[in-house]
Amino acid sequence: MPAYPLRVLVLRRTKLGEADLILTLLASDGHQVRAVAKGARKPGGRFGARVEPFTVLDVLLHTGRSLEVVSEARTVATHEAVRADYDRTTAASAVAGLLERISVEGQVEPQLFDMSLATLDAMETSPVSAMRPLVLAFVLKALAMHGVRPALGECAACAGVADPAYAISPAAGGVLCERCAREDEGSLPISVEAHAALRALMRAKMSDVAGLDIPERVQREVTMLLRAYLAFHVPGRIRALDFFAAGR
Ligand SMILES: [Zn+2]
Repeated sequence: MPAYPLRVLVLRRTKLGEADLILTLLASDGHQVRAVAKGARKPGGRFGARVEPFTVLDVLLHTGRSLEVVSEARTVATHEAVRADYDRTTAASAVAGLLERISVEGQVEPQLFDMSLATLDAMETSPVSAMRPLVLAFVLKALAMHGVRPALGECAACAGVADPAYAISPAAGGVLCERCAREDEGSLPISVEAHAALRALMRAKMSDVAGLDIPERVQREVTMLLRAYLAFHVPGRIRALDFFAAGR
C-alpha cells in the first residue's frame, strides 16, 4: 500500500524496543491513529526531537502489519511553551488524555482537531491562571463534539424553564428545573454562578477563554460538576485529567 500524508497532533509516545516509539496521534479528521516511528529514540535519528507530545506534524504513513508506520515527519507547530512550563504541561496532558479516550480508532469527529489545536495555542500564550478555564472549556466542547453536549438552556428532563437551574444531571444530559431536580437522585446541585460559567465556557472561542472572569471557587465547582458529567458519559479513568483536577 502506498504511503499517505496526514496532519496529526501527537497525544502520547510509548517506548518500543531499543530505539523505536509508538505514537498515539489525533489525525486532522478527528480519528485516532497509532503508528510506529522507527529509530525515533536514536540520538541523531531522522525524527530528532520532533515527535514530542502536543507537537503538530505532517507525517507520511504506510500501513504496517499491525500498526501504521511513520516514514517521514515535518514539524508544523511544536507548542514548546506548553512543554516548558509545569502548569501548562499538566493542563495540556489533561487535554491529550481526554482526546486519547474519545478519538477512538475509526470514529471520526472532524471539528475535534481544530478545537484541540486552538486549545493548545491558547495554553501557550495565556497566563497560567487561565489553564483551568481552558481545560474546562475544552472538556465542554469535546463532550459536545462527542455527541453528549450538556443542555444548559431549558430543563434537560421536561424542556421547561431552568433559569435558575437547580441541578445538573449526567443521566438527563444537562441542567434541571426545580421539580425535575427533586426527582433525579443522580443530579448534582449547581449554583447560579457555575451555571453561568458553564454557558460562558461553552460559548467562548478558545482564544477568548482567558478573558472570562470566573472566580476560583466557581472554577472548582465547575470542575467537580464536569468530572461527574464526564465520568457518566466517557467511562474509564483519565489519569491526566484526575491529576489536573486534583492540583492547585
Ligand atoms: Zn424540568
